Amino acid sequence: MRSNLVAGNWKMCGDTASIEKLVAELKTSLPAEPGLDIAVFPPSVYLAQVLAGLSGSPVAVGNQNVCDQPGDGAFTGEVSASMLADIGCRYVIVGHSERRAIYAETSEQVAQKAKQVLEQGLVPLVCVGETETQRDDGATLEVISAQLKPIFSTLSVQQLQLIVVAYEPVWAIGTGKTASPSQAQEVHAFIRALFAKKDEHLAKGLRILYGGSVKAANAGELFAQADIDGGLVGGASLDAQEFSAICRAA
Ligand code: 13P
Repeated sequence: MRSNLVAGNWKMCGDTASIEKLVAELKTSLPAEPGLDIAVFPPSVYLAQVLAGLSGSPVAVGNQNVCDQPGDGAFTGEVSASMLADIGCRYVIVGHSERRAIYAETSEQVAQKAKQVLEQGLVPLVCVGETETQRDDGATLEVISAQLKPIFSTLSVQQLQLIVVAYEPVWAIGTGKTASPSQAQEVHAFIRALFAKKDEHLAKGLRILYGGSVKAANAGELFAQADIDGGLVGGASLDAQEFSAICRAA
């Protein structure tokens, strides 16, 4: 059976003092339950601080982005998957909609990033999701399918078995507008069916997270859907009590 994963994406938020406080609060409030994986994604300059603060706890740490090239190399400003593995990260978010929209990352680059992450023994959280206009135009499933196409052509079936997919409708991110459980379930089932075309066994084991205005108040009904295996949480992951309540709902 798939274990649930709840991931907290702290985005570009926090400083040394606020992160120290958040880590201390998380250590005392997060549940430690078998079958539940928890990970946090601080800004990369605070990774070492968070890794040290959470060492010995079951909470994993990951980065929010990675270079699409192997390291070392002349890629000023970039961080390689090998560096993230070296310091003890377990996961890396790739293809977040903010990176696709603001930094013009393509689905091909996202697939290359996922490949670098896997080659270092880390787990990529591959984000997909449609904009409001695309949903209104009835193009949601087509958009998701196009975003995943390079993932299928770049990664082997063995590698696909190790990834996590996060469905984050762009219109639900940071807006307070959550996809309804049935809207989210429809897309999650579609994603699982795409993986089933490649390999049935792979599809059954694939963890698909929902992201977009997840809070303690809506997490339970979202996570109860058959194809939702946890959440990728933004704003609410900066509050230890709220994030812990979301984890308990998974
Ligand atoms: P919010 O939970 O703040 O809507 O953000 C979701 C997200 O983008 C997580 O990656």
